[in-house]
Amino acid sequence: MEASDRKQAAPGQASRGDLPRLGSDPTRVYRLGIMGGTFDPIHNGHLVAAEQALFDLELDAVVFMPAGSPAFKQNKQVTAAEDRYAMTLLATSDNPHFLASRFEIDREGITYTADTLSGLREIYPSNVEFYFITGADAIAEVVTWHDAERIAKLAHLVGATRPGYDLRAAQRAFAQTDLHFDVTYLEVPALAISSSYLRDRVRAGQSLRYLTPEPVSGYIGKHELYSAGNTL
Ligand code: ATP
Ligand code: MG
Repeated sequence: MEASDRKQAAPGQASRGDLPRLGSDPTRVYRLGIMGGTFDPIHNGHLVAAEQALFDLELDAVVFMPAGSPAFKQNKQVTAAEDRYAMTLLATSDNPHFLASRFEIDREGITYTADTLSGLREIYPSNVEFYFITGADAIAEVVTWHDAERIAKLAHLVGATRPGYDLRAAQRAFAQTDLHFDVTYLEVPALAISSSYLRDRVRAGQSLRYLTPEPVSGYIGKHELYSAGNTL
């Protein structure tokens, strides 16, 4: 490949592989939503939470990043990164504001959110702000994550909660830390869905219809994920 064949990013415009191109207009602020997770598999809970964050926080795009080797799941069996990425790509392909990214799966070693955010900060100009989206279960734990101080500096946090969800544990966790986190909570209706629940259903021979987009359940059936010889 000739050097001249390589695409050059315009100054101030981020373009690294499959990441959304944001930041080209220096006179405005862009908001990038980042949804990290194992996505084993991705499901409608993740998608509805991201869609709600997109709307409530006026994000320009949400990038879904399957973790390469998730920090929390070192002692657990996790489906191959390529399968988790493929399902994430299928699930996000019909939404013009959603993207799936290989950013974490292409990096070696354990995935830490602080490192991901630092990596993104090097790529994007300063007029692109980061909104890291997590579910209600994860939000209270962010203060305990590896290099939480760096996370607090690099991103706003968005906690997706169910209506009626008790936020006190999360609020206490943030009140008790010296670090300053900017946290926004948003309500996502009716989503008790989890990847574990989907995996259990596959093992029990039950359908995933209406729990994850149809191409994802098709992929799971075709590749016999979660249960050898599943008949989805
Ligand atoms: P598992 O059951 O294997 O733990 P999971 O459904 O929690 O899977 P993850 O990939 O672990 O999925 O989660 C990625 C992110 O999505 C986390 O921040 C998690 O809190 C959030 N999340 C998971 N399920 C939901 C849901 N139903 N609504 C909103 N956010 C969710
Ligand atoms: Mg989880």
